[in-house]
Amino acid sequence: MRLRLVTGNAHKLQEFGSILRGLDCRLPLEELDVESVVECGATYYQNAYRKARSGLLSVLATGPNDCIVFADDSGLELPLFDNMPGAHSARFRYASLSERAALAAFLSEHRVSSTPGRFVCWIVAFLPRSRRCLACSGAVAGTVTPESRGSQGFGYDPLFTPDGYSLTFGEMDAGLKDRISHRAQAVEALWCSLQGTIPLRP
Ligand code: IMP
Repeated sequence: MRLRLVTGNAHKLQEFGSILRGLDCRLPLEELDVESVVECGATYYQNAYRKARSGLLSVLATGPNDCIVFADDSGLELPLFDNMPGAHSARFRYASLSERAALAAFLSEHRVSSTPGRFVCWIVAFLPRSRRCLACSGAVAGTVTPESRGSQGFGYDPLFTPDGYSLTFGEMDAGLKDRISHRAQAVEALWCSLQGTIPLRP
């Protein structure tokens, strides 16, 4: 039994590995290469489902099927701006800038020096052998600023300070982010759902 993650994002692969090790998961984790999936869904769930399903189809075509095929979709939500960029986080553009620089410019332009925000993660997992599909989510609340701090992590990490901490995800030791993040919570929920339903040792 192995875990096959549908992603093209090396940071995510590394984070999932670290989170799973923290849960004492001994199943091997590998990236599953599929043709890139257009993230046209309106929700994280839809995008995660589309990515995981394309992985499932690839596994069913090429085997072996004794695996868990999964994908996540995640994003940053700002309640002050109707929860944008949300499920569109990867494609957020502003003033010809992309992602982090775009959000920082957007906040500065709107004279927002700090605002509540949350990272959200949805995971969809298929178990081809037992014909099951699981969906789990996680979220972490904090504060978002236009000021970038730190060079760890990826995406919006340097703009986000989780509640109860003074460091941004970009300044934190990766091990700490991987214990408290939206992704960590979603993986933990997935891991709990899997316990007892399949053999979880290699
Ligand atoms: P996706 O889940 O691959 O569609 O990624 C959505 C976008 O959300 C990424 O491009 C990042 O900008 C952002 N994002 C998702 N998770 C994180 C995270 O853990 N840290 C920082 N940015 C993230």
